[in-house]
Amino acid sequence: MMDADINFHEPEHLRLLRESVARLVAQHMPREKARLWDRDNIYPREVMAELAAMGLMGLTVEEEYGGSGIDIYATMAVIEELAKRSSAVACPYIMAVCYAGMNLGERGSEAQKRELLPKVASGNLLFAYGLSEPNVGGDLAMVETHARREGDEIVINGAKRWCTGAHIADYIFCLLRSGPKEDKYKNLSIVLVPPTLPGVTITPLGHLGIRGVETKDVTFDDVRVPVANILGGEEMWNKGWSQLAGRALEVEKLELSACALGIAEAAVADAWTYAEERVQFGKAIGQHQVVRHMLVDAKTKVRAMRMMLYSAAWLADQGLPCSVETSMSKLFCCEGAAEVTQICQRVTGAYGLSDAMDMERYVRDAVSLPIVGGSSHMQKNNIANRLKLGA
Ligand SMILES: Cc1cc2nc3c(=O)[nH]c(=O)nc-3n(C[C@H](O)[C@H](O)[C@H](O)COP(=O)(O)OP(=O)(O)OC[C@H]3O[C@@H](n4cnc5c(N)ncnc54)[C@H](O)[C@@H]3O)c2cc1C
Repeated sequence: MMDADINFHEPEHLRLLRESVARLVAQHMPREKARLWDRDNIYPREVMAELAAMGLMGLTVEEEYGGSGIDIYATMAVIEELAKRSSAVACPYIMAVCYAGMNLGERGSEAQKRELLPKVASGNLLFAYGLSEPNVGGDLAMVETHARREGDEIVINGAKRWCTGAHIADYIFCLLRSGPKEDKYKNLSIVLVPPTLPGVTITPLGHLGIRGVETKDVTFDDVRVPVANILGGEEMWNKGWSQLAGRALEVEKLELSACALGIAEAAVADAWTYAEERVQFGKAIGQHQVVRHMLVDAKTKVRAMRMMLYSAAWLADQGLPCSVETSMSKLFCCEGAAEVTQICQRVTGAYGLSDAMDMERYVRDAVSLPIVGGSSHMQKNNIANRLKLGA
């Protein structure tokens, strides 16, 4: 007999975790509310308080800083369960637990960890990502928003685009050009900028999916921040690029995979029920072969997405190299969600296009996922580069 500890069943504590999140979803995130949050771009702050009360904000925070210890797999399970119902909750959960929790834990100075991580764990701290700009998407090292030192302060000028949740965040995690552009990867710094400071202007930016927590344009006009707000402390000035790499970046790819998985699962569940209930030509449409095949294809894809996500999350939890696997997960799950939700939309026919069902929202959310957080093309580049294709 083979001596191996391969086990694809989730342990009991994860089953219980999923059950308790599902109960919270049923109680505090009913479908009608999820539709409203999407339609009116509402951030459901009260649900975040419930998540904090359940102790779910501490899953990326070490115990010495008030968390329950870093458990990336469990964090992804929570995101998946939340995303099944609403991006308006999954997104701010990510802003807290991943953007703030992971980045501070991995790259924060001791003083920043002591001050801020307990707030993450208690559900009182959100970061927004200020990476993209009007002229900068995938090529992030070309950011133009500028930072200069003036004594104990940093003065910031420029503009960030697509800054999800800038208006509700405690800090915008800003990637800034802090020296000459010629040294593309060297003269970059990450600074934590409170969006309430004088000189920060936040304006809305309409977009198709992932609504609820709005995505914003943010401009900085002589915004002054103490040098203590440089991520990792003053010695990390001009070393921001290196701070973008590491486990927090791997986890970013996984959190979007978890959103993709949750949305795709919700779409399959709704389409499955519809196929059993909708009768055409004298029988449930789920008895027509073409519909059966569509749903089986979708369900099979979702199972593969689950394997991609959680095998990469397991690697990340073990501290093993996982850059290729997390990129593959982001690529496969996000493309998979776009495909699966559109298959499910076909199954639900005209109702799948109407706001009487959640299907049209699943599709809008899912088609955004291969674009955001490093496009599918960028993930393919990462994978080929990491595997040294043609080198
Ligand atoms: C709803 C939403 C929320 C977002 N939230 C945030 C946020 O909170 N914070 C933040 O900083 N950003 C955010 N973004 C921005 C998002 O991460 C970017 O859209 C993404 O990184 C891609 O950048 P871009 O759209 O400017 O595309 P570009 O980089 O301009 O690319 C355009 C196209 O060219 C392709 N392409 C570009 N370069 C290459 C290459 N070298 N090889 C192959 N193909 C290439 C891309 O894959 C894409 O298809 C958000 C975007 C949306 C829509």
